[in-house]
Amino acid sequence: MSAHVHCPYCSVGQETAEYSDYRPFYVNCSDCARRFIVEPVRNGVVVYRDGEAPCCSDPECRETEMGDSGQD
Ligand SMILES: [Zn+2]
Repeated sequence: MSAHVHCPYCSVGQETAEYSDYRPFYVNCSDCARRFIVEPVRNGVVVYRDGEAPCCSDPECRETEMGDSGQD
């Protein structure tokens, strides 16, 4: 799967990389190069600015707080 998202900083639309589960991941904007978070959800994706996502939707926070090793 991939998704069409809009950068939360500059609003440029772009396709995400392929993903296969519901773990959030970082995207670097193709236009302004700033990093944001994309979290796949049941009906699409949710986009957060880096640092504004709740811990469960933040890849780095998940890794440190929840021990998410990236394996199922
Ligand atoms: Zn951007």
